[in-house]
Amino acid sequence: MAHEDVEFMKSMMRNLLKLQSLEFGETNNAGDIAVIAELRSKIPSQILGHYDRLRARGKKGLAAVRNQVCGSCHVQVPLGVVMTLKRGQDVQLCENCGRYRYPDSGEGKFASQVEVPVDPMLGHGHTGGQASG
Ligand SMILES: [Zn+2]
Repeated sequence: MAHEDVEFMKSMMRNLLKLQSLEFGETNNAGDIAVIAELRSKIPSQILGHYDRLRARGKKGLAAVRNQVCGSCHVQVPLGVVMTLKRGQDVQLCENCGRYRYPDSGEGKFASQVEVPVDPMLGHGHTGGQASG
């Protein structure tokens, strides 16, 4: 039974997240290519391979888990899995959307949902009834 290195797992997921944010064009610096190559060299090839297959289809390889829900497909994630993710004990794939799950580290910072009020269709007062006189 192989003992998994928790720190390795955690840093690997961080590297994968950083790689994703770079490759999905959130930044556009000349130095990114070197950083991407560096990150790729640190990530195990089997994980990178799965990530690349998703990326080839324009999909992100990682999904944040927040409130026990997959941030990508919104399927419920068992608490045991969330705990495993938070401890960095294992890499988990969402069996629904196929993305790697990572625990969302957002602490009490919730995206406020903007509700757009729906305007009822304003009926145009039609002027009917010709007055002849
Ligand atoms: Zn999912």
